[in-house]
Amino acid sequence: MPIKTPIYLDTASTTPVDSFVVSKMMSFLGVEGCYANPSSTAHRLGQEAASAIAVARKTVAAEFRCKSDEIIFTSGATEANNMALLGIARAYSSRGGHIVTSAIEHKSVLECCHALEREGFEITYLTPNSAGWIDAESVKQVLRPDTLMVSLMHTNNETGVQQPIPAIAEILTEAGILFHVDAAQAAGKFLLDLDEIPIDMLSVSAHKFHGPKGAGCLIVRNRRRLHMKPLIYGGGQEFNLRSGTLATHQIVGFSEALRIAANNREHDLAHVTKLKLFFLAQLRSKLPIQVNGDIEHSSPYIMNISLAGISSDALINQLLNEIAISSGSACSSGTIEPSYVLRAMGIEGDALYGAVRISFSRHHSVNEITQAVTSIIAAVYRIQALSE
Ligand SMILES: *Cc1c(COP(=O)(O)O)cnc(C)c1O
Repeated sequence: MPIKTPIYLDTASTTPVDSFVVSKMMSFLGVEGCYANPSSTAHRLGQEAASAIAVARKTVAAEFRCKSDEIIFTSGATEANNMALLGIARAYSSRGGHIVTSAIEHKSVLECCHALEREGFEITYLTPNSAGWIDAESVKQVLRPDTLMVSLMHTNNETGVQQPIPAIAEILTEAGILFHVDAAQAAGKFLLDLDEIPIDMLSVSAHKFHGPKGAGCLIVRNRRRLHMKPLIYGGGQEFNLRSGTLATHQIVGFSEALRIAANNREHDLAHVTKLKLFFLAQLRSKLPIQVNGDIEHSSPYIMNISLAGISSDALINQLLNEIAISSGSACSSGTIEPSYVLRAMGIEGDALYGAVRISFSRHHSVNEITQAVTSIIAAVYRIQALSE
């Protein structure tokens, strides 16, 4: 009998590309397609590619309620985070060297901060409360006259907990401090209206909402006033901030996936909310579980749970042929290091070593969730039997 494909419940690490998006991307690749360099506007083929990029830029700008020329296409959120932190720090270093972030950021923010520390910057790493939440007031308290910027994520990739971004944005606007938000787990899934919320820089990644890997953007408000330094020098694409031939198929795929996500946002949110609550209720009726992170302030796309006395490694291994889940971020799995995010929340011992992340998408059915829960319960019983 052929081995059946496991149910994929790891959408926080990546999602499959929407089929319509795939076909759209294909039309920008082959010899029959719109493959010309979008900077080669001397000829018609280049102009067509440039116009596809312009349309994509407009679509992305419309979604985030910003201007087209505030969008800098990148290879994803890792690059966008690097650009925001290093680009601003290096441009403004003469003015002050203090940056505020948190201990639960993605590695692409934390490692930039570590690099900046080696360059002489001072970084404050805020710790969340035990529910994974960072109070706006705690941000206010660490601000200094020389604070250059604050970088915080919108939705945590391990727990789904969402920070009070609008309240923090207000405080920082009043203080005149730049605000960067890593919205990789939020973009497309939640409305992020930059006209309403005064965020200066926003990082977006296409592959978290059924777009291609290797595509995303950094949105920089009032770019001309920021004088940010580029990470990549060359032909001057993307307003001199990110050189390199624009990847038309990636950018079109990104914008199409975003358009689809925005059009179905409410419907998808309602669907995954139902799935998450159903999952929790089903599992709770059979097993003692701990939910890690504040469920009231969390994305319905992500949940993080610990099963009493069951290690996440044992559970994930028992489930290899049935469901695909992880014990945290994709970058750190494969090692037995427990999650630094949960650690920062003060989670220890069994709950720390037993934490698994389960993440949903619009493609999942209630039937699949029922199957997944049944598989988890059976796996827990097998592990318990083995250890007796
Ligand atoms: C996935 C993710 C990133 C990295 O995005 P890439 O496009 O894969 O580089 C950054 N931050 C968060 C919160 C993420 O979930």
